[in-house]
Amino acid sequence: MRLAAGEAEARRLDEADPGHRHLFHVPPAAGGRYAETAYLAGNSLGLQPRAVRDELLADLDAWRDLGVEGHLDAERPWLSYHERLTGPAARLVGARPAETVVMNSLTVNLHLLMVSFYRPAGRRTRIVIEDSAFPSDSYAVRSQVRFHGLDPETEVVRLRPRPGEDTLRTADIVDHLAGAADRTALVLLGGVNYLTGELIDIPAVTAAARAAGVTVGWDLAHAAGNVPLRLHDWDVDFAAWCSYKYLNAGPGALSGVFVHERHLGRGDLPRFEGWWSTEAATRFAMAPVSRPPATVEAWAISNPPILAMGPVRTSLELFDAVGMPALRERSLRLTGQLDRLLAEVGRGRPLAVVTPRDPRRRGCQLSVRVGAVGAAELTRRLRYEHGVIADAREPDIVRFAPVPLYSTYHDCWRVADALAAVLPRTGGRP
Ligand SMILES: *Cc1c(COP(=O)(O)O)cnc(C)c1O
Repeated sequence: MRLAAGEAEARRLDEADPGHRHLFHVPPAAGGRYAETAYLAGNSLGLQPRAVRDELLADLDAWRDLGVEGHLDAERPWLSYHERLTGPAARLVGARPAETVVMNSLTVNLHLLMVSFYRPAGRRTRIVIEDSAFPSDSYAVRSQVRFHGLDPETEVVRLRPRPGEDTLRTADIVDHLAGAADRTALVLLGGVNYLTGELIDIPAVTAAARAAGVTVGWDLAHAAGNVPLRLHDWDVDFAAWCSYKYLNAGPGALSGVFVHERHLGRGDLPRFEGWWSTEAATRFAMAPVSRPPATVEAWAISNPPILAMGPVRTSLELFDAVGMPALRERSLRLTGQLDRLLAEVGRGRPLAVVTPRDPRRRGCQLSVRVGAVGAAELTRRLRYEHGVIADAREPDIVRFAPVPLYSTYHDCWRVADALAAVLPRTGGRP
């Protein structure tokens, strides 16, 4: 069965609105009629930018040719390498350079930030998260609560959608924060929910938390590089994100961290320190007591892994060159097209989009609930019979992310066409 909204139309849209696919390696398809994968899993692991390999090799060569002297003599000296990432990372999330640093992995950074920003005191002991929080975040907050000698069963509050609904409502989050302010120490939410693709109204929830005197942090793993962000202006306390999803910096790539200017240089905030937490000018004085700078680098601990920084730098430079506003515009067009196609496939088949239909309440990802076929079996067939790579969350959610940098209208059409072929028609006819 082929879809009415035809392939030729998708090809025509791609000619008119080509994106930057030529800058990426697209994996070959494992099955189906096309040579290339229709890659819809960039929300899980972004594709490799073509430029990364040479950039990485250049950093490797500097180590080969210079040894320890590379710290100062490499073309991109290692001692200050991380500073090259600061400007573009700050622009990506709408932060000031002093508020942004790239370091460690995401969950590690959430812990380092909670050392400073989860300070249970008196009756204010609770952490609010979403019930559908990414498991790593859930484990992180539960272990932080235990670290303070408290009980995660009572101190971690999980926000659930209303009965019969799939996503949270901003008004419900705001009401909760207002009502539970006297018990809440921290709210830590995903900016874009990894499962449902819902984009939370970050400025509104941040404002509500701040008004209630609750510290507010954001996990932006699914938001950074997906939707425009203005963390400084929105008055967010802290945030962290990883670089291997929409930022395409490779598996396990480094994480970015934001701490709002008003917290920089505060002597009363506990932090864990290492030699990279001290100001650069006196780092090699090897003094026994640190002198932390009045920037987010006070939260850094170790010297950065140079070979892991090249891919992040390459990626951030690309985002800088293209710009989030342009990417968001293209993203709205691509995801809008996929949304229309999925609605067409869903007529008469067991498929329902759970992501909000309002484009302002989502990034590029659309999550669908599938019927009895199951998410794992469906994605397996999409991959091996149609060359479509999507992401299964058992038991019944499949996530599709048309990524504005490299996905195409034809990819979206292939998703819908493959779903139409694989999913049985309700009423029995296959
Ligand atoms: C991907 C993701 C993570 C992954 O954490 P790592 O520490 O990078 O392994 C954590 N939280 C969220 C919300 C994610 O989407």
